[in-house]
Amino acid sequence: MGGGIHGTHQALVLLDAGVPGDRLVILDPHSRLLARWKEWTSRTGMRYLRSPGVHHIGLAPFDLFRWAGGRRRNPETFRGRVRRPSLEVFNRFSSQVVEGWGLESRHRRGQLTDVRSVQGGLEVHTDRGPLRTRHLLLSTGPEPPAFDEWEWTREGIWPQRVHHLFGPSFPFREIVDRAHRSGRPVAVVGGGISAGHLALRFIGEGCCVTFLSRHPLREHRYDSEPGWLGPRNLRSFWQESCPSRRRRMIREARHRGSVPPALARSLRAASNRGALELLLGVEVIGPASVTRPVISVRSIPVPAEKGERRLLGPDPEPVEPGPPVRGSTPIPPKTSIDQRLQISSLILATGLSSGFGGEPSISGMASRLGLPVGPCGTPLTDRELHWGKGIHVSGPLAEMELGPVARNIVGARMAGERLRQKVEEVSQTRKASG
Ligand SMILES: Cc1cc2nc3c(=O)[nH]c(=O)nc-3n(C[C@H](O)[C@H](O)[C@H](O)COP(=O)(O)OP(=O)(O)OC[C@H]3O[C@@H](n4cnc5c(N)ncnc54)[C@H](O)[C@@H]3O)c2cc1C
Repeated sequence: MGGGIHGTHQALVLLDAGVPGDRLVILDPHSRLLARWKEWTSRTGMRYLRSPGVHHIGLAPFDLFRWAGGRRRNPETFRGRVRRPSLEVFNRFSSQVVEGWGLESRHRRGQLTDVRSVQGGLEVHTDRGPLRTRHLLLSTGPEPPAFDEWEWTREGIWPQRVHHLFGPSFPFREIVDRAHRSGRPVAVVGGGISAGHLALRFIGEGCCVTFLSRHPLREHRYDSEPGWLGPRNLRSFWQESCPSRRRRMIREARHRGSVPPALARSLRAASNRGALELLLGVEVIGPASVTRPVISVRSIPVPAEKGERRLLGPDPEPVEPGPPVRGSTPIPPKTSIDQRLQISSLILATGLSSGFGGEPSISGMASRLGLPVGPCGTPLTDRELHWGKGIHVSGPLAEMELGPVARNIVGARMAGERLRQKVEEVSQTRKASG
């Protein structure tokens, strides 16, 4: 279940390990496999992946380089020491893998809603009817956060001007046109890689951008340290038997809301050119006007980056002037400063939820089938990612076994290795017993 990066890679691994094609179904509500990945990454405007070129959906680590052929030496195709692929080459390779293995013919459109244990296997309920199976692999992928914290966006205040980057639709062109017509900045809320890329995408279209982040730019090359790819960090993770402590290790290891150094440099350069207002250490409180697109923001007590001012740029109706920020001195809570900003649109680029996706169907299913869960309902699986009753997991659902990288592309590869071992073991046992 799930036809994203994880589900598609696992389908490929299963076919390669000898599972017959006509015994495999990839259940996903979109019209094409990898649709969500392609849509979301293209919305951000990112040109290169954050992860190395050996992390992709194909089988062998060097398959993407091999496929790129002569272009692999072109710095436009792969960037930096770990050869981060361009999004374009990554997507073209992925489409070629899907096509080459006929995976689209295994895709059935539908959304899993429930799973019941029945004689001889499982009954998977979907919005398009039930399916019978002996083995189910869950690869849901995280969802955008709920809009609850933005109550006021639901109250019809300046309709068409507040959008979530990963919402059901994202009218990029309309937002750009409105910014040009009004001469006001697009406000991008968020402090991580998606917000950073999106800000640069709007700047590339000639828009002014106000970038609002609760925290300073947190620079990290990857979203967790490379030690988590292997035993260096995973050994102590596996030695830890308490699920809550494992969860804490994951939380501490993930650099949520971080940006790679090159992106941070581009944002600062745009700020120096005057195309971008970097408002770091501020949060949006809500609309300052019901009729006009004006937002209220306030500074919050977090360390600011050296040389960064808290509140910059046009200030139509200042309440109080902002205090100077020196070095990384935290601003004490009492000096919270309110300010109003006129904008053209407000874009929430606040990332994806830290949940596992597919809630509440998966949580309901777990309690009905009596499957073991840890903190926040995450599955507790065995080493082979078997959760119970023929159900395996990949992606965020496999986090308690694979650690902080489980939800990344490399996490799909790690899960795939374990599934392959399992399939090969089962087929050897079958052969041995005649
Ligand atoms: C902008 C952006 C850039 C990123 N860049 C990188 C990067 O450079 N390197 C990296 O390693 N990671 C990156 N990531 C993280 C990336 O999302 C994951 O690595 C990868 O997409 C996760 O794949 P997935 O299959 O878990 O999720 P997705 O690609 O989101 O796919 C999950 C699929 O499951 C389906 N699904 C969910 N619930 C159900 C249900 N009930 N029934 C049926 N189907 C269901 C969804 O519709 C979806 O199609 C990035 C993420 C974003 C948003």
